[in-house]
Amino acid sequence: MDRSQVKEHLTFAGELGVAGVSRDPAWRRRPASPRREPEAAGAPGDARPAPLSFSRTSAEALTAVRADIGDCTRCKLHALGRTQIVFGVGNPDADLMFVGEAPGGDEDIQGIPFVGRAGQLLTDIIEKGLQIPRKDVYIANVIKCRPPGNRNPEPDEIEQCEPFLFRQIEIIQPKVIVTLGKFAAQTLLRTDAPISRIRGRTFEYRGAKLVPTFHPAYLLRNPASKREVWEDMKLVRRLLREG
Ligand code: SF4
Repeated sequence: MDRSQVKEHLTFAGELGVAGVSRDPAWRRRPASPRREPEAAGAPGDARPAPLSFSRTSAEALTAVRADIGDCTRCKLHALGRTQIVFGVGNPDADLMFVGEAPGGDEDIQGIPFVGRAGQLLTDIIEKGLQIPRKDVYIANVIKCRPPGNRNPEPDEIEQCEPFLFRQIEIIQPKVIVTLGKFAAQTLLRTDAPISRIRGRTFEYRGAKLVPTFHPAYLLRNPASKREVWEDMKLVRRLLREG
């Protein structure tokens, strides 16, 4: 690693508020994390989707998906206090996509995923950490309506709603998908593995590289875990460069 890369990494860590990072030469000599190879596809959603058979722009195609959702009543969440459907936001041709669990209270009111304190931390991770404007990535949730009391989505709700996420991914065709938190990772990868075991690894998923990391709301409660997120974002940057 040359001096400019070291400086870049230290700045990146500092911007994320990672404690214990230093320019001290002894710190720099710490061994790097063991290299982790991308894992073979194994989940039901791993096959690359067929190309779209029409010539709409990505923005138009996403608008069509949103129109298909309509004033959705496909699952019971429509009747459990949602204010509005939270579809997704960002660049329809993004190389990088973030996928969370479901809208929370702020998102339900504003109709935008990842607002409020956790959303601000995600914005910092994207803009200060990855140095990408938030508007240049795409952000969505597995579930488009807020579960009451922010409970976990239930299997029937996931079954009804996740096809919309699959269509978003198919249209955007990101190079890298970052799942935020345990639920999104376990749902997309069809695994019960704890987030602590799968974060920071690379999975093949629907033509993209998928990297699970912690949810920003978790980081607000456990700031020490920003160090791991920093490592995950370095992996994301590498994957974006390679892609
Ligand atoms: S969560 Fe999804 S499937 Fe359920 S009502 Fe909302 S948009 Fe429809």
